[in-house]
This record gives sequence, structure tokens and C-alpha cells, in this order.
Amino acid sequence: MLTQRPCTFILSCCLLWLSGCGSTSAWRHTEIVPIAPGATIHLRVAHAVNGRLPRMTPEHLDTLLAATRKTALEHFGVHLVFSAVTETSVDALLAQIPPKVRQARMSEIYDFKSGTGDRQRLSAAILHTLHERKTELADALAYARPYLPRTAEPSTLQEFSVVLADVMLARLDDWRALKADDGKPVLDDTPRNEWIYWDTLGYGALPYDVILTNQLVASAEFTAVEVHTAIRGGLTTGTTTFSRTAPYGSFVFWSTFPFTDTSALSHALRGDEDYTPTQAAELSGAYLAHEIGHLLFKFGHPFGHRACVMNPASMLHYRAWHEGLDAAQCRIGSLPEMRVGAIPEVYNLDWLRMAQQP
Ligand SMILES: [Zn+2]
Repeated sequence: MLTQRPCTFILSCCLLWLSGCGSTSAWRHTEIVPIAPGATIHLRVAHAVNGRLPRMTPEHLDTLLAATRKTALEHFGVHLVFSAVTETSVDALLAQIPPKVRQARMSEIYDFKSGTGDRQRLSAAILHTLHERKTELADALAYARPYLPRTAEPSTLQEFSVVLADVMLARLDDWRALKADDGKPVLDDTPRNEWIYWDTLGYGALPYDVILTNQLVASAEFTAVEVHTAIRGGLTTGTTTFSRTAPYGSFVFWSTFPFTDTSALSHALRGDEDYTPTQAAELSGAYLAHEIGHLLFKFGHPFGHRACVMNPASMLHYRAWHEGLDAAQCRIGSLPEMRVGAIPEVYNLDWLRMAQQP
């Protein structure tokens, strides 16, 4: 996954704003840093821990990062060098978000915990994203059908967006019902699970390029709701998004929770299987290379091309995703989505200015 804003980007070196937003839009894109074949790339890594949830051991984090290195070398031809992993807490990390930017983004969050969220606005936001992606109903239905109620027969994108909102919120309730080892909900009353918070971290002076976390990131928002995120109940495995201090203009946050969680819900979404701790680390690391593709090369999503790392996993079927990979069949530039700069990183100039105010 990556951050895609609800405006279509114009692929031109000369235009700095986004179509559909007007010339006064606050959205800009970051520069694309050229990367030579065989380059060595240094990335700073943190592990942000929520002490209430199970976490990977340092050894398994090493296994994870080794799998990322291997996959990135095979598919992208670059040598990744990760820093030592800095351990921090989720709370300490989220506390670094510039308060004014956080405040500016609060209205994007659908409040599913209090039950006061605006369901109609959510389906309208989903419909907006479907239109932005130029979604064909038949294609989207072919992908999503196995995960929708059997009685759902949407005949328009508008009807489809209502079904997706219902499915998303029902599954989010399932995540909400999940209990941690301490008997309390995994998704507690803190904002640790909110995608908007994680997506806003980079407006601060974030000293990391890759943040691994054991936090479950599952939420609903009115911004860029993708079909594959909706049918998973708003669960995010990882996102590549803007970072103002990062050398490649973006950072990655990456949740290990969907790989390690053994609840019935995760088990079902993984295609009725659990992973051993080592398998979880290896599959998580391989899939993290997907975000590295967004981070370094700004690749898009070649949906359905199973050979490609950049093809998103279906639901949480990480093993099936991994088994389909074939670097020889998905070279850089071999598909439109595999061109460098296919989807450049964007940021909001207004929020950047807020973040830089004393
Ligand atoms: Zn992606």
C-alpha cells in the first residue's frame, strides 16, 4: 500500500500540482531520487512497540530484515543496508506528530469506536476513490466478490461503495472485538490503531526510513479508501508515505501484527493458516520489500501480476503472494506500474508549513 491522495497526479517534470485539485491545491510531490542498478541503499530502522501486544524477538526482526534484503536484491537489484534497530514505543513515536497537523487531519477519521461515525460520508468517500481509480465495476467485483455477503448484488459503483462501507465497518467491529493477552481489546481507546496518525508521522522530524511495529493498524477514514483495505476491515499491513526529513521523501510503517496474530479472525483472513514465528518473520520481511519498492522507486500496483512484489497480497494471503513471485517475469519497467516514478510521493504544503512553525 502507499498513500494516494484523492487527486490524480500529472506525470510531468514541469507540473507541481495535482489535477482535479485546481491550481491552488496544497498538494505537491517530492523529488524522485535516481537510483543506479546495483546501488547500496542505507535505511534507518526503528521498532515501535505496544507493550500490550505480542512482539517479534530481536532475532526474528533480523530474520525479517534479511528477507527484505534478499527480496529487494532479487526484484529491484539493490543492496539494502539496514541500521541497527532502534527500539521505541508506539506512544513515544506518535507523540512526535506536530500537534497542528494532527489537528488538521482529525476530521478525516471515521470514529468507529464511539459508534458516531458518518456511514454515509464513508461510502461517499469510497465512491470517490473508486471514481479516482477509474474502477470498472465488473473488475472490482471479480476481485472482491469472495469477501462480500452472498446477498450483495451491486449494479452500480454507488451501490458497490455502500456494500464496501458495510463490509469494512462490520469487519472493523470484528477487529474491535479482538482481545489481547491482558483481556482488554487490542484496539483500545487510544489512537494507536489509527492510520491517519501513522500517515502523519513524517510531517515531524522523523529519524527513520522504516518503522516496524507490533501495533495492529486498523481504522476507517474518509481518505483514499481502497477496495482491498475495505474488505479487510480497514486493516493496514504497511504504508509508504511522506517524510520531510527522509532522503527518499518517504518512510515506511510496517505492522507485524497480521503475520503473528493467531486469532480466528487473522487465521481466516490468511486463508485458514497460521505461521510459525520464523515463517511470520520471513513472509513479513519479503512483503516489506513491496513498500521498499514504493519508497525507493515509487512503483505502483500491477494488480493481478503474481510475479511482481508490487502486486498487493489478497486479504492476508501472504504465503500465496510469496509463492507467486518470480523476479525474471517482473523486471523494472516491464509494466506501466513497474516504471520508476509511476506514483510519486505527495505531501500537503499547508501541513508542512504548520509542522515547521515554531
Ligand atoms: Zn503498495
